[in-house]
Amino acid sequence: MATTNEAPAPAPTEPSKTVEIDGKNYEPVQEGLATILKPITNEPSKIKPRGSGFEQQVSVFYNPIQQFNRDLSVLAIKAFANHHVAVIQEQNVRKKVRRKNRGKKRKREDGEEEDGAVGGEGEAEVTKKHHGEGQEQGSDEVVVTAAVPPEAEADSASTAAKPVKFQILDALSATGLRALRYAKEIPQATRIVSNDLSPTAVEAIKLNIKYNEVENIVRPNVGDARAYMYSLQGENHTNDGNGKKFNVIDLDPYGTAGMFLDAAVQAVNDGGMLCVTCTDAAVFASTGYPEKTYAMYGGIPVRLPHGHEVGLRLILHAIASSASKYGLAVEPLLSLSIDYYARVFVRVHKSPIEVKALSSTTMLVYSCDSGCGAWTTQYLTSTKTKTGKDGNEHTNYCLGQAPTASPLCEHCGFKTHLAGPMWGGPLHNPHFIHKILDLIPEVDPKTYRTLYRIEGMLTTALEEDLDLATTPQGAETEDTTTTEAKEEPKPEESESTPIIPRLSPALKEKYPFFVSLSALAKVLHTQTVPIDLFRGALHGLGYRTTRSHTRPNSVRTDAPWDVLWEIMREWLRQDAPPPSKEANRERYKPGSAGAGIMKKDRSRFAESSALDALKTELETAIREGKDVADLTTRIEAALYRKGRPGPTPAVAAAAEPTTPAATAPAATAKEDRPHPSTLTIKFDESLGKKFSTELRNKKKVARYPLNPEQNWGPMSKATGR
Ligand SMILES: [Zn+2]
Repeated sequence: MATTNEAPAPAPTEPSKTVEIDGKNYEPVQEGLATILKPITNEPSKIKPRGSGFEQQVSVFYNPIQQFNRDLSVLAIKAFANHHVAVIQEQNVRKKVRRKNRGKKRKREDGEEEDGAVGGEGEAEVTKKHHGEGQEQGSDEVVVTAAVPPEAEADSASTAAKPVKFQILDALSATGLRALRYAKEIPQATRIVSNDLSPTAVEAIKLNIKYNEVENIVRPNVGDARAYMYSLQGENHTNDGNGKKFNVIDLDPYGTAGMFLDAAVQAVNDGGMLCVTCTDAAVFASTGYPEKTYAMYGGIPVRLPHGHEVGLRLILHAIASSASKYGLAVEPLLSLSIDYYARVFVRVHKSPIEVKALSSTTMLVYSCDSGCGAWTTQYLTSTKTKTGKDGNEHTNYCLGQAPTASPLCEHCGFKTHLAGPMWGGPLHNPHFIHKILDLIPEVDPKTYRTLYRIEGMLTTALEEDLDLATTPQGAETEDTTTTEAKEEPKPEESESTPIIPRLSPALKEKYPFFVSLSALAKVLHTQTVPIDLFRGALHGLGYRTTRSHTRPNSVRTDAPWDVLWEIMREWLRQDAPPPSKEANRERYKPGSAGAGIMKKDRSRFAESSALDALKTELETAIREGKDVADLTTRIEAALYRKGRPGPTPAVAAAAEPTTPAATAPAATAKEDRPHPSTLTIKFDESLGKKFSTELRNKKKVARYPLNPEQNWGPMSKATGR
């Protein structure tokens, strides 16, 4: 088999050339710095995309729609490789210092010379050196680093410069495109295994490895990905590169990665990274088959606009519970819901102590998914921190009291449904996102054609964190000195080093889901509140807001649901365009969620005295109560409102903070907050805009781009893999 001396293949947009190898014709397809050879054949492709009217057949050999996933993965692994190399170099320097100190001590003790030899350090390292972006094919050179003579006392600088092993497994490689791109575009990669079950696929991988001249980095392997990963059982899992386990394992299946997780968490190094794709959104992000979702991911999904975010949390839950059995704790670095699939980057830490935190960061969700869309969360265990006899702090995990929500929604009276268990910690490590964003100016947008979208999505993902979301000058954020709060250094403090700090395993995402403004409007049959007006109203009350990467026109906030519904009722009263007769009728239709919400309108409290209101409420509750639980809820709600009388000028004035976000009402228990009907709500657009970070930065990033191309959509499962 001979490769041709052709120049690098043209970009897919240009007319393609044909390459002949061993009498067979191929069309070179370039993506990133790699080229794959697509066989030219008259036979129809093995896979057909779903959907009627989509006649064009997409080749099993190249799926251009996934370029975003591959571009993102290259940058993410590059950032992770920088981190890994820095960690190992730091370890080596520390080892050296320790050895020196030991040597000096020994010299002092008995005058003997120190023995500088340490296992592994004397071996020669073969490393492939790259010349960065835009390199010509064939310009790679193999650098053999001379073995360090055991006697040589190298200084710490040369120890730090020792090549660091960085090994990647592309477990479900198909034609090997990912492995080839990692070899060409990640200079730190020293060994990449490109595995596939199909011998035909591996023949294609071998051809592509040769064509791309990466034989000394990429090793093909035929076999079941699980069997291969399990074969690494018992190997050294430390991240010093002395074992066969991997620094990065990429699982990129068609469909779910569920069945590969148990093997993958055990085949990655301590501190290594798993990159997991799941394309079965119909299972993880929809309630059509909750039994399937549970079987695959160990949790129940929700039927609400934030279903895809719940899907990410179910996938993370599946990874975390696979890992915990082996004393491995997982830390999500980046979790994205992209088009029709999910992609998560997760760090795995060998730490039985950190695994203990998992039950306290795993949550159930009670959703009013057929009514108004409100939700309540509950963590599986609660924690208490005690100081032990040894003076150290210990965390006790206690059983939680169930449930945190009533069977009927307190806002609209509809049934609440159970979802989860699912991951309830942070979805991202902001330090990691910063490291990826830092790489973007260094790479060529012609090579990374989806760069604009990567930047937009990462920026929004970064802003999802309410604690880190930028706030206007002079505004204070919630006091974050509690044990649950994030105490890690802010990203700007860690920018000088590529090392990605570990977030606390006990962190909880207190406000996990976003609120869809159009879904709120739909319940009340009104027009959607413009996002800046809505954010302005929330900030005026002292709450914080940010957005979600998964959906446009969405707000993530620490405001409770009774406040959100009060804002919506005020929107109807103050600003909404006059409703049509039909909208008005629908809104107050008996038994609808909208009618349930409108029952709590503040005008009803103002019309009569508080006592009259209570009487009316109790009578209504008795008349309309469907069962004992419903009756109890309604009476409790009525009594609660009785304790919080209607608006008076003094209360209304007190409810209005002098500066935005000066108070932290989110941290306050419901009983201690003013009743929502007493709040002064202003739809302050300029205040909302002030918090709209992309306007502040004057930075145009493509946050929610439209579908990448015509006939876009999920692909059917490929055969032969
Ligand atoms: Zn509801």
